Amino acid sequence: MTEDPEALFAAEMAKLRQAYLDHLPGELIALTSLAGRLDGSESDRPVLEELQQRLHKLAGSGGSFGLGELSNQARRLDQISKAWLGGEEPSDDSRRLFSMDVAALYSSTSMPDALGAPTLENAAATDVPGRRVALLWLVYGDAQQGEELRRLLEQFGFEVKLFGSLADAEADGGRADVIIVDIQFVLEGMSKPLVFHGYPVLFISDQGDFALRLRAVHMGAKGFLLKPLDVPKLVDQLELIFDETQNASYRILIVDDDTALSAHYQLALTAAGMEVETLSQPDKVVERVAEFHPDLVLMDIEMPNYIGSELAAVLRQYEGWVGLPIIYLSAETDVDEQIKAMGVGADDFLTKPISDARLVSAIKVRAARARQLSDLMSKDSLTGLLKHARIKEELEIELARARRSGKELCAVMIDLDHFKQMNDTYGHAVGDRVIRAVAHLLKQRLRKSDMIGRYGGEEFVAVLPECDIETAEKIMNDIRERFALLRFNHEGTEFGCTFSAGIACSTQFPPSGLLVAADEAMYRAKRSGRNRVCAA
Ligand code: GH3
Ligand code: MG
Ligand code: MG
Ligand code: MG
Repeated sequence: MTEDPEALFAAEMAKLRQAYLDHLPGELIALTSLAGRLDGSESDRPVLEELQQRLHKLAGSGGSFGLGELSNQARRLDQISKAWLGGEEPSDDSRRLFSMDVAALYSSTSMPDALGAPTLENAAATDVPGRRVALLWLVYGDAQQGEELRRLLEQFGFEVKLFGSLADAEADGGRADVIIVDIQFVLEGMSKPLVFHGYPVLFISDQGDFALRLRAVHMGAKGFLLKPLDVPKLVDQLELIFDETQNASYRILIVDDDTALSAHYQLALTAAGMEVETLSQPDKVVERVAEFHPDLVLMDIEMPNYIGSELAAVLRQYEGWVGLPIIYLSAETDVDEQIKAMGVGADDFLTKPISDARLVSAIKVRAARARQLSDLMSKDSLTGLLKHARIKEELEIELARARRSGKELCAVMIDLDHFKQMNDTYGHAVGDRVIRAVAHLLKQRLRKSDMIGRYGGEEFVAVLPECDIETAEKIMNDIRERFALLRFNHEGTEFGCTFSAGIACSTQFPPSGLLVAADEAMYRAKRSGRNRVCAA
């Protein structure tokens, strides 16, 4: 493993989590002992105050470290103690029950495997570098609908906290990745609820007239969905938002002969979370674009020997870069050159001098838009995975990279088991839901550097760079087991699905035969009973 920042971050997180887990039993014992001191007398109040504070903290921290159930229980008890502190008089029975529930927090975590067990709920938060489970807050008026939606979202691998009101969500104090809100809650109040600040928000509504949608925009909406809810669609939007916040690092190539200036721009854009390379030799632009795959090129207009518009025209000669945004940086006096540049497909101009803040925001919106468009072209709309041609391209690029670096790479072929029969029994729409679920699970469980494509209808290809065959088998078996555990629902019937996978390693097969070998291994998995992973 290389020491990249992501791995370091994951290692830091693992350390923090371990420290937390080490400290947890002591904290739970302390809570139990505090709760045992409640006896209905005058002296209860300070004890209850302390209990409430510690339960509140536990609710928040438990959620952050992937202990969803513990966190939920702690939250419930936190709320009960808060009500008592607020003047509600507990009966002897409810006090006893409360103490027992606090004690049960401890026993729930001391059961074998309770901490960090590979359940669907908490495992992804712990052991996949660079990925963690997205935590959703669901603020829903109808408790039953809310519960149902929570269950569905959990099936897609999200962690979900359900709140009955905005006030409850506000009181939580923990973190969220995305807040999903029933719009009825915000219709009465005019201003933006406190809890929305800093979080992406998705609204769910019964009606979608323009005024209401605009209102949602004013409250910072990232999306607007109508009831009855299409859950896979919601999942897609959530993934988009989650990817954006996780991974907003756009790649920007700056082409400018003025190295001091481009170093300055580089710093400003890097500080805003972008990945930036600079190029002062314009004649190397083709090679650099090919290597770096920028989302956007920031191009000076006046350079010795070259004019920016000429370079843009050269780039546009390559079919793959027709859509690559090229933004010119030009002095105000370059009007003639600006017009000429527009003629060969400039996308926009930024005028020097430009403030850092302006530069950052201008580049960010354009890069985001470009990323969106290129995703639209290269990604499958049902799953958000790479399309057939693109995953093959990526495999070739990764194979070339692996050859240069001498590292091994694994290709994986995945095919759902008896899928035709499932379609025939439950319908095509249900089949599509299953396909999305596999896609989501793969995205969630594989590393960020891995690539996943939808190869055919219910066939997927994953490319795992810097991965040996044993590791690949382990990872794929883990995903296979998780997938087999998922339960789907159709008109009251519960069912599951499985897949078979074949893996081939680049050290054993020539590049041109790698996918074929993976495919053959996959068929061996089918023949030997399905729901298994075979290595070529
Ligand atoms: P096996 O275990 O041998 O793979 O059996 P299978 O039934 O899955 O066989 P195969 O892989 O050949 O079946 C492909 C079937 O998957 C055909 C079609 O009914 C279904 N399918 C393919 N693409 C889609 C899709 O996009 N959506 C849905 N719902 N079904 C699809
Ligand atoms: Mg210049
Ligand atoms: Mg198939
Ligand atoms: Mg199949």
